[in-house]
Amino acid sequence: MIRTVLGDIKKEEFGNTLAHEHFIINLDHVRHDGQSNIDTPEEVMPEILKAMEGGIEGAVEVTTIDMWRDVLKLKEISEKTHLNIVCSTGFYLSEYHPEYLDDMTAEDIAKIYEKELVEGIDDTGIKAGIIAEIASSPKEFVGHEKKILEAAGIAAARTGFAVSTHTGRFTAMETVETLLSKGMNPDKIIIGHQDLIDDTDYHIELLKKGVNIGFDTCGKVAYQSDETRAHNIMTLIEKGYGDHIVLSNDVSRRTYFTSYGKDGYTAVMNKVVPLLKEYGIKDEDLNKLLKENIARILDN
Ligand SMILES: [Zn+2]
Repeated sequence: MIRTVLGDIKKEEFGNTLAHEHFIINLDHVRHDGQSNIDTPEEVMPEILKAMEGGIEGAVEVTTIDMWRDVLKLKEISEKTHLNIVCSTGFYLSEYHPEYLDDMTAEDIAKIYEKELVEGIDDTGIKAGIIAEIASSPKEFVGHEKKILEAAGIAAARTGFAVSTHTGRFTAMETVETLLSKGMNPDKIIIGHQDLIDDTDYHIELLKKGVNIGFDTCGKVAYQSDETRAHNIMTLIEKGYGDHIVLSNDVSRRTYFTSYGKDGYTAVMNKVVPLLKEYGIKDEDLNKLLKENIARILDN
């Protein structure tokens, strides 16, 4: 089953899915830019509906506890739009961490994750369906980042749920090794934001460990062109890794919305998928990228 904010559903009921998104999020306590505080369903739903018009049917909402996750608002969005939403338990980068993590061990933090996955989040009755997005700083693990990752490995190994990360090149292999050292199934791991690294030999070193990688910042062309993303996906499919890639847009500021002239949540379907088709992707491989891979990873 796949655990959504409206309850558990069968893997077969899960359609084209964005693997790493934020709908209700507040990063302003760190960013202070007035753009990373999307806190009403009314603001985000028109953007979600545009992605659904393009064929999206589900999303993994990876907003963490310390990004001010609000699962009741996610439930409202799911009820009103009929988008399948999987919500998360987890912590983000060091600068967002709450002080109470100071005195906790990895085992203590794993118990928070397990409670939210198995029993529910606060008294909402809503359960998390994944541990995400577990972050590390760009150059190395900072503060409690290693501890929250170890906790993710412990909780995932015990419960069977997946872990999705926010990871750059310099912490990627250590992230994989840490999660595997806790007894995790590698196929339950998504190493996120790997499309920002234009190096498929490096991707293959990670994929050889049996993990999945996220091409999950589609449409953020200031960091990477969508053409490069699509070319690298085609290379990885040719090398036999089409079963281990998931797609998303990772919108975390309203300035990425279509109402601001950007692609919002539509870049995967409206920009990257057309490029993949132009480059000759087979239907069965596209189906894996959009649907089958993420359903298999989430299924528990
Ligand atoms: Zn993210």
